[in-house]
Amino acid sequence: MDLIRTADDLRHLTAAWRAEGEVGFVPTMGSLHDGHASLIRRARSEAARTLVSIFVNPAQFGPAEDLAAYPRDEDRDVERCRALGVDAVWAPPDEEVYPPDVALPEPDPGPVGETFEGVGRPGHFRGVLKVVHRLFDVTGPCRAYFGEKDAQQLFLVVRMVRERNLPVTIVPCATVRATDGLAYSSRNARLGDEEREEAGCLFLALSEAAERARAGERDAAILVAAMGREIGATPLARLDYAAVVSDETFEATDRVTEPVRAIVAARFPSARLIDNLLLPRPADDR
Ligand code: AMP
Repeated sequence: MDLIRTADDLRHLTAAWRAEGEVGFVPTMGSLHDGHASLIRRARSEAARTLVSIFVNPAQFGPAEDLAAYPRDEDRDVERCRALGVDAVWAPPDEEVYPPDVALPEPDPGPVGETFEGVGRPGHFRGVLKVVHRLFDVTGPCRAYFGEKDAQQLFLVVRMVRERNLPVTIVPCATVRATDGLAYSSRNARLGDEEREEAGCLFLALSEAAERARAGERDAAILVAAMGREIGATPLARLDYAAVVSDETFEATDRVTEPVRAIVAARFPSARLIDNLLLPRPADDR
């Protein structure tokens, strides 16, 4: 497995790989967990070569956010990639992603970038699209694997690729969860025992919304209220938002018409968690 630092080395490597077949690319911020591993396995099963990038992107963290505290363990991540059969890891220093004096494209996330995850994190999605655009520019044509766990990010990346005609196929990947339903996230490591025990409330809330949708509930406000109650009843959790959004526009909807996604965010004392679930059709519709 190659460990690459510079953008030039990566360009050369992926260009050579493309002569043999498709390049599978899994962009990450490191601190790899089983969610990342599932993206990597999928990439390996579908592409001739697999590349993982590890880069904690300063552009997507606000001044009051946890950039310095974001968990980092490159040696462990590199070993994990090796064990998973990855062909190369790109772990660049900041200046290889953001060369000084080069004005990189900054795709506009538009109004969706200001909602939900964008509300408390102004500029977050601008930073996400800037880095993803740059990573794609260096990697070149590829299949890129993204988790549904970050549904708003996935929505904006898919739209950027479509609008800019980038030579990249985005492959959405299902959220990987612990046995109590908590979606794996690098931030979970910060949770204390009690917080970890209660963190399953996000998935419980989403599951309740899914059950009601399956039972035929079409009023999004009822689903939102049910999710709020579930998280509100969890002592250490503070609800940030619960909503039902169209999967096609990522805008909140009043009526549950397909396809729609329930989304939640909650603050625990040590970490803020997000999750989402595509809602099923009513059982008697099938
Ligand atoms: P991150 O390192 O948090 O930026 O995540 C890198 C990629 O892994 C993103 O596309 C995430 O959506 C995806 N991801 C993170 N957690 C999970 C999970 N629990 N299941 C599936 N994909 C995930």
